[in-house]
Amino acid sequence: MSEPLLSVQGLRKHFVQRKGFPRPRTIVVRAVEDVSFTIAPGEAFGLVGESGCGKSTAARALLRLIEPDAGQVTYRGQDVLAARGAELKALRRKMQIVFQDPYSSLDPRQTIGSALMEPMRVHGIATGREARARAAALLEEVGLPAAALDRLPHEFSGGQRQRIGVARALTLEPELIVADEPVSALDVSVQAQVLLVLKQLRARRGLSFLFVSHDLSVVRWFCDRVAVMYLGRIVEEGPAGRVLADPLHPYAKMLRDASPVPDPTRRGVLPRIVGEIPSAANPPPGCPFHPRCPQAMDVCSKVAPRWTVASGGGGVACHLHG
Ligand code: SF4
Repeated sequence: MSEPLLSVQGLRKHFVQRKGFPRPRTIVVRAVEDVSFTIAPGEAFGLVGESGCGKSTAARALLRLIEPDAGQVTYRGQDVLAARGAELKALRRKMQIVFQDPYSSLDPRQTIGSALMEPMRVHGIATGREARARAAALLEEVGLPAAALDRLPHEFSGGQRQRIGVARALTLEPELIVADEPVSALDVSVQAQVLLVLKQLRARRGLSFLFVSHDLSVVRWFCDRVAVMYLGRIVEEGPAGRVLADPLHPYAKMLRDASPVPDPTRRGVLPRIVGEIPSAANPPPGCPFHPRCPQAMDVCSKVAPRWTVASGGGGVACHLHG
């Protein structure tokens, strides 16, 4: 395997909250707990799991949009968490994010042209006519006309706004795109178009992706490798084809069985994911999945499973495979 573009080791992010009435008490929400993975140059790596599993928090923490509590993040060997000032600015240029909600990530009073040209000016890439020409070319690359430069965000549909969000992420010529549920706010009919744009960009520009999604069918189509997160931890990781078709971890199996597969021979009612994710403020002892696990054993509620390397690549944290 080639030298990783991004390496994340032991990433942790807890949130301290005051809750309760009339006597509020302090609780610690363990949103991300010891998350580790790498992304190779040109690779698309998926982080999947139900809402609240910590995948978006992990993505934001490694970009330092929120500061992690512990862990190590390196980008081409450079320490991301120790970077300050000009060094951090240069790193941010290389790692850009596409948000779930394109509308809230755009300033409603700022024209699209201004939104695309501003980062170029701030980072000293281009100004004036050159910046405008670059912005027009970016719009064209995501399938929008140059005339969009002088319009405001509210004049566009959800799918068009997400294309603008993608164009803006490209203004600084990044190598890595963190796509945080990039199509989940869009109509199903529009999702495929935006995903195709992302896939074409990946091929044309050799981009790497961290693709955060709750939608396994999207990740199956887009990603090379995938990690499944549960309650702030990665419970299984490996080649997307293997993990999503033939998962080892009971939670990953549950996700797979609840995900629609484009196979007419398997039509029918999809099984539901049983139960709800427990609170990250009070995770169950042992294996955090044991209250929902159909294969739980006595040991599961007492001892946390160790990480075991899987024969097809990657690994799994489950006593069934320890
Ligand atoms: Fe289920 Fe036990 Fe494996 Fe956890 S360790 S996933 S409870 S079998």
